Amino acid sequence: MRIISALVLLLLSMTAAAQQSYLVDWDEIGEEAIQHFVELIRIDSSNPPGNETEVAEYVKSVLAAEGIESELYALDPTRANLVARIRGNGKKRPILIMGHTDVVGVQPEKWYADPFSGLREDGFIYGRGTLDDKDNVAAGMMVVMMLKRFGVELDRDIIFLAESGEEGTPEVGINFMVAEHYDAIDAEYCIAEGGQNVIEDDVVTRVGIETTEKMPRRVTLVARGTPGHGSRPTLQNAVAILANAIAKASAWQTEVRLNDTTRSYFQRLAEISAPEDAWRYLNVENPEESDAIQQYFLETFPYHYSISRTSVVPTVIDAGFRKNVIPSEASAILDIRMLPDENVEDFYAELAAVIDDPRVEIVPEHIYRPAAPPSEIDNEMFQTLERVALRMYPDATVLPTMSTGATDMAQVRAMGMQAYGIGPARSVAEMNSGFGAHGDNERIEEEAFVELVKYLWNVVIEMSATG
Ligand SMILES: [Zn+2]
Repeated sequence: MRIISALVLLLLSMTAAAQQSYLVDWDEIGEEAIQHFVELIRIDSSNPPGNETEVAEYVKSVLAAEGIESELYALDPTRANLVARIRGNGKKRPILIMGHTDVVGVQPEKWYADPFSGLREDGFIYGRGTLDDKDNVAAGMMVVMMLKRFGVELDRDIIFLAESGEEGTPEVGINFMVAEHYDAIDAEYCIAEGGQNVIEDDVVTRVGIETTEKMPRRVTLVARGTPGHGSRPTLQNAVAILANAIAKASAWQTEVRLNDTTRSYFQRLAEISAPEDAWRYLNVENPEESDAIQQYFLETFPYHYSISRTSVVPTVIDAGFRKNVIPSEASAILDIRMLPDENVEDFYAELAAVIDDPRVEIVPEHIYRPAAPPSEIDNEMFQTLERVALRMYPDATVLPTMSTGATDMAQVRAMGMQAYGIGPARSVAEMNSGFGAHGDNERIEEEAFVELVKYLWNVVIEMSATG
């Protein structure tokens, strides 16, 4: 158990009347949730190929045993999405709980345990998907089962979507659901992955709630020159032209710009930081200090650099095929992550001006995540997420966060849903250990998983239970 003071327990009993009307035995529910979670991890749904239908079938059978109907929606029969709906009285618009059923691949030889065994050891559960994102799938499934089991009267429908294809193939998952079956998932709010809580000295000190994310808008730079013999220098060498363009693009200091989420993030972080750091967080937008602060972020904590601006990072170079041949063409990929409000075409035009070389063509990638404004941090949902977090973790600071990565929330935000990413708590040591999402030996603390279920349950009840 995390440390909770007596005073807070008292407050809890006064303010949490809604939860108290459902007497949840969390030892029992927690163990049941873990059992299902382990079963989900045991299904290898590595994407590619995905094989998410097997996960969807498992969820369907568990829900059916509870008397909950669900429906499969599949563009590709092996990659089904599942939707279940617990009906309310319709006073309020629905909440969508979303989790993705695919996982990234593994190099099993680098794992301590079989990545699809769901090994439970020393309070941890090991396996691909334990943090990304079968924890949210299992938590969502458990919460809808509990709503049904306890006969909770609801002011709104609660929709559960177990979706396929999040790891790089949204066309079979969220894009398909949005384009073809939006009526099945349409909601006012969405809760999904992307948040993270931090444990220091066995106490949860930070609760991160993802309210927005950067837009992946990569480009390929294609440099063209004159082919020739490597023994004869030329001013039209595609490799040199490309190298020069990459150097300029990576050195480019793009505009520093905050939004409601990142501004609030830095302000709240300042309140719990040492004076020097606090000063930096409060001066991110100060034009006099910005350059030095950004340099400091870049050297010490690149996340803060990245959330302050659109970032341009070279990741792939493809040039040349023989040591004595000057190739006619050379190319590189720039992984560009834009701020949510960036004007994409204007940014590409600026990039062209920075590179300033007509021999270099900028070829944008196919857009697979739509642009969307950040979700609000002053509405009923964010306030509830915050209130419940502070009740469960009285020593914590709640931080709205912007992910530098990308999730399927981009698609539902683009449809107008207010979407929030939550996640399990991890200790600082654990976060620095490499046991994280997409890493070898991905693992989650059993207690943190159960608390994720509890958090989701509390939020859903407070947002939706009648009375
Ligand atoms: Zn994920």
